Amino acid sequence: MECRKDRYKLISLAPNVMAYAVKEDMRDSEPPHLICANCYNQGQKRFLNQTIHGSKYDRYNCGTCKEELEVHRRSGGAVQFRAISDYDPYDGR
Ligand SMILES: [Zn+2]
Repeated sequence: MECRKDRYKLISLAPNVMAYAVKEDMRDSEPPHLICANCYNQGQKRFLNQTIHGSKYDRYNCGTCKEELEVHRRSGGAVQFRAISDYDPYDGR
């Protein structure tokens, strides 16, 4: 159960910026965290490190594949993580 892939869902941090995030209901005691989509697709779970936490944008960095993700904030608001793969429009939720 521990390492099942479906504990994570693909999310869109920004247009064309993808990452995996642990599902809220599967999170247990873990803090929210992001997983590198590149590495994840190769079967490796690698945390994304946030290197910049700015007022205009955040930057995340994967120490393994060197992927850098940049997430621009909308005018001062918090970044909204949007699930793109875990949503079933016919599920009735
Ligand atoms: Zn990576």
